[in-house]
Amino acid sequence: MFLDVKELAVRKLRIRKSYAPGSVDYHTGEFKQLGPLDVEATAEVLDGQIRVSGMLDTKIEMVCARCIEPVVEEVHREFDLFYRPLANSARPNEEARLKLDDTEVGFFRGEGMFLADVLSEQVLLSLPMKVICRSDCRGLCPSCGANLNHEECRCETHATDPRLAPLARLKQDWLKKQ
Ligand SMILES: [Zn+2]
Ligand SMILES: [Zn+2]
Repeated sequence: MFLDVKELAVRKLRIRKSYAPGSVDYHTGEFKQLGPLDVEATAEVLDGQIRVSGMLDTKIEMVCARCIEPVVEEVHREFDLFYRPLANSARPNEEARLKLDDTEVGFFRGEGMFLADVLSEQVLLSLPMKVICRSDCRGLCPSCGANLNHEECRCETHATDPRLAPLARLKQDWLKKQ
């Protein structure tokens, strides 16, 4: 859906739309959208700026930072955003100055912008930098790559809980005798 500044200046647009996975480009391979992205929003022109306000809901699959198993993040975000027209003739330093002064304000070029780009950015902003599948995730063995949540490996390198050290020694002795 294209938000055309001239059309929005005539009348505000009420948006109720559902984007299937794959139809919003997140410009990253680090996560993927699971199920639809639902958006309810209003787009209008105020003082020459495009205002987009509303909320979105979706589910995003990320990977656990420790064990790289999939983790599903529920995303719900409310937004109220303003986008200023950026003249094609604007000099680069002028552009940079605008961004410095007003980091909260976005820009659009030409006739308007795509709603999908706005949503993509909002989803990115609402995701945590890192997720873990559970607080006691044991991660992967740094030597052999085994997922330690599912299996014990025979490497002796990973640091163990000191309370378990005597047990680990017993296990190592036992393994040596095999
Ligand atoms: Zn994990
Ligand atoms: Zn290992």
